[in-house]
Amino acid sequence: MTSMTSTPPTSSTDENRLRAAIVQHCQRLSGAGLSAGTSGNISARCAQGASAGLLISPSGVDYADLRPESLVWMDLDGRWSGPLKPSSEWRFHRDIYVARPEAGAIVHAHPTHATALAVQRLAIPAFHYMVAAAGGHDIRCARYATYGTEELSQHALAALEGRRACLLANHGMIAFGADLRRAFALAIEVETLAHQYLLARATGTPVILEAQEMDRVLEKFKSYGVNAQTAPSAAA
Ligand code: 13P
Ligand code: ZN
Repeated sequence: MTSMTSTPPTSSTDENRLRAAIVQHCQRLSGAGLSAGTSGNISARCAQGASAGLLISPSGVDYADLRPESLVWMDLDGRWSGPLKPSSEWRFHRDIYVARPEAGAIVHAHPTHATALAVQRLAIPAFHYMVAAAGGHDIRCARYATYGTEELSQHALAALEGRRACLLANHGMIAFGADLRRAFALAIEVETLAHQYLLARATGTPVILEAQEMDRVLEKFKSYGVNAQTAPSAAA
């Protein structure tokens, strides 16, 4: 695990904007087909004063009732305070921010198709070039461990090596990005790919792209969409 060296300070205005954006994305989980009920959780990196940390959705709260002030701030040692408990998955959120300095926001969800593959403990191979959107030649499935445990966090970090997304065996998926918009978009992309892969498997034998071709796609992705890209902002 590499440790994070520095986090830019977050002003209170930025923090308020970020809180509102996290709530907005939590409330979009169900409509986007990513999670039903209270399953799933979202966080974003957020410093308070000199302390690096994160803002995370509280555990077990109906997203319809979620308010910006319901989010839990936690430092990178996992210390938090307040009336609401942080998501039971705070460990893998915290561990991803510590191990992956490029992570600015994380979406965890239980989307139907990604989970249908994860219960079979299947990875998503390079059946479609868009698999490269997660950063590599495949989207791995992390080994199973009970939800909310340190063991699950360790398995997730291993599956995320060189990737921005993974499936979680018998559970769901994780996607992260530089900001909320990118993390959420990747979560939707992974679920779309899982749906396509399931359909392809059910109706035949998908052809898997060669490693050389995936390397070419990964290279092209470095400059894909740069025209449309806006600088990542706290509330993006
Ligand atoms: P929380 O409500 O505690 O965030 O848990 C939901 C979940 O998806 C656990 O894996
Ligand atoms: Zn979960």
